[in-house]
Amino acid sequence: ELTIGILGLQGAISEHLNHIKSLGAKGVIIKKPVQLEDIDGLILPGGESTTMRKLIDRYGFLEPLKNFSKLGKPIFGTCAGMVLVAKEITDSTESHLHLMDVRVKRNAFGRQRDSFEAYLDIKGLKDPFHAVFIRAPYIDSANKNVEILATFDDHIVAARQNHLLVSAFHPELTEDNRFLELFVHMVKNQKAASIY
Ligand code: GLN
Repeated sequence: ELTIGILGLQGAISEHLNHIKSLGAKGVIIKKPVQLEDIDGLILPGGESTTMRKLIDRYGFLEPLKNFSKLGKPIFGTCAGMVLVAKEITDSTESHLHLMDVRVKRNAFGRQRDSFEAYLDIKGLKDPFHAVFIRAPYIDSANKNVEILATFDDHIVAARQNHLLVSAFHPELTEDNRFLELFVHMVKNQKAASIY
């Protein structure tokens, strides 16, 4: 059985559990670094990246999360989670986990578009995906080795690099579990490759 963790420090945590379950995997809320040892993939949820970073430091998660990534175990960062995995943050000298070769702009859609919904064409999904954006970031620059999965208004809002998946929107907030399914497939493939 696949076990997928959701970093349980802050943000939209429980909503992910339903999707994970509907896709036949087991979901676990991660509150302590030691729990990372028992999961096959990890979701960094939406919320507030600055708050999440403070809690990551307070509970000693920074190195364990980086090590998790070094093992090649898949990580899905949504919204604030995308901010956490980026190597660079626009207009900031600091970044957090420093994993993915992208630069992410926070609260990037501006005030008029604080929160909005859109139907996106996403690479790997047959039909458009109903995406919910909440004070969302976007990727304003990506390295060549990053695969762009979706754009909105010419801005990158979903991408993949090896075992890392990110979305600017919140796929857990609608019934449509196809985006989470992309992640579950990554986790499944990675697990199969590491065992055999
Ligand atoms: N604006 C938040 C941040 O920069 C992200 C918002 C969200 O996760 N919905 O951390």
